[in-house]
Amino acid sequence: MTTLLLACLPMPPHMDAPQADAPEAESADEAWDRSLDTSDVVHDVIVIGGGPAGLATAAELDHGLLLEAESPVGGRIKWASGPELMLVGTIEQVLHGYNDSPEAAAKNWATVQGDAPSELTWRFLEESAEVRNRLLGLGLSFERLSRTPTSVVPRQHHIAESGWDFVAAIASEIDIEIRTDTWVEDLVIEDGAVRGVMVDGELIRARRVVIATGGVISDPDLLDELGYAPEQFSVEIGGDEFNWIAHDWALDHDLAESQLDAIGWHPGHAAYEDGPRRLEANDGSAIWVDEHGERFFNEVRSTSVEAGGAILRRDVTGIVSCEETLEPMLFKDAGYLEQFETVDDLAEAHDFDAESLRQSLADVRDHHHNGGMDSTGRSIWPSEMMLPLCTFEPGFTASKAYGGIDVDDQGRVLDVTGTPVQGLYAVGEAAGMGQPGLGGWYGFDGSMSAVVWSGWRVGADLAAR
Ligand SMILES: Cc1cc2nc3c(=O)[nH]c(=O)nc-3n(C[C@H](O)[C@H](O)[C@H](O)COP(=O)(O)OP(=O)(O)OC[C@H]3O[C@@H](n4cnc5c(N)ncnc54)[C@H](O)[C@@H]3O)c2cc1C
Repeated sequence: MTTLLLACLPMPPHMDAPQADAPEAESADEAWDRSLDTSDVVHDVIVIGGGPAGLATAAELDHGLLLEAESPVGGRIKWASGPELMLVGTIEQVLHGYNDSPEAAAKNWATVQGDAPSELTWRFLEESAEVRNRLLGLGLSFERLSRTPTSVVPRQHHIAESGWDFVAAIASEIDIEIRTDTWVEDLVIEDGAVRGVMVDGELIRARRVVIATGGVISDPDLLDELGYAPEQFSVEIGGDEFNWIAHDWALDHDLAESQLDAIGWHPGHAAYEDGPRRLEANDGSAIWVDEHGERFFNEVRSTSVEAGGAILRRDVTGIVSCEETLEPMLFKDAGYLEQFETVDDLAEAHDFDAESLRQSLADVRDHHHNGGMDSTGRSIWPSEMMLPLCTFEPGFTASKAYGGIDVDDQGRVLDVTGTPVQGLYAVGEAAGMGQPGLGGWYGFDGSMSAVVWSGWRVGADLAAR
């Protein structure tokens, strides 16, 4: 469709696209502006997508238009009850007696991710306390801190208000026009530069376009290509707003993408009949066993592709102490948990070797009481597996993507040759949290801080032009 449309469009003035590392990128951008026939440019900036990233971008702009497919705006986080954000070096941490710093976070990062943080990740770590200040200035508050199994100090800042309040606070700073119920069909790119977007078969011209359409997690075909078996997963859904349009656009327009298989998975049983809800199990509260009843997998490292590989290879059963389950009645009543009073009953019902199962539980008990490593290499303290035990079928929930469209440090989209597409930007999850690699391969819980930060950062740069 794009090719046909492009054939009908007037050719733009010729201009050599700047290289990714061109020192004069800024002035090339300005030259592009000057070269445009401004009579047919309708908008300075079009932001596609009104999730937290798009809203944050729009909040910085004096002129422009935000187009959102759904109504109301808010993206995926509007479903969350109390969103958590990963922040470093905040007053809340000090008040709780923790010393934290970008250096400490970077060290922790390197241990978990296996490589040193990129320059942009460093910048994010250094600026995350400013993200905290701005959110509080918008009337939000933090009710508690928590720690992920792999971090040495608590960095997850839980917002006291709802996901909806969170996006409403970010949106409260927006002055530009927002059009909801508006699905953007395509980008229009000519000669290495964006010219606008297609809506209802019509071209809306813009000098710059920001892709803020969210991550690539809900595309069953893509998951299949990446080696997942979609039918084995309950891919996270929460309404029709889940889509993978950024990936389609990348393929259609030769945009570079990376780390697509770095997908955050939440193991546990997800239930979405009446809205998003999930039984989380990667916090040490549940163990997984294979078809013999043996532990085979480090559940704590289950937030990335490693988990997908594991579940494809085996039949997996999740086991949790019924009493420790966050919402036991809800999940039991809904039939997602099956309760057993003895280990033998559980083994018999699941056709496990009872001795293997007993050993698995002993492994967890030892680890719980004595620390060190368990048989899967897990080093955090798991919950003690107490009777009665409940089993669940681990369904995976694809919660977020840490890869996506490649952008440079200014958020400019790169094509497959590494050249920035003039005027085209990507923020938030569409760009793997602001830049593929920023979330790493295992990602981090609370990546919303990076999502919002990338929007504010790119929006401020655009406004400054
Ligand atoms: C229940 C739940 C709880 C979560 N909790 C947390 C948490 O506590 N902490 C955390 O860090 N993360 C959490 N996440 C993940 C977080 O929501 C996402 O990482 C974040 O929303 C990504 O923001 P985004 O703006 O990049 O994309 P999205 O939120 O996906 O927003 C993209 C927007 O673009 C719109 N759009 C897409 N395509 C088009 C198009 N073609 N035309 C027009 N509009 C389009 C969509 O309708 C959507 O509104 C949670 C997710 C869910 C579902």
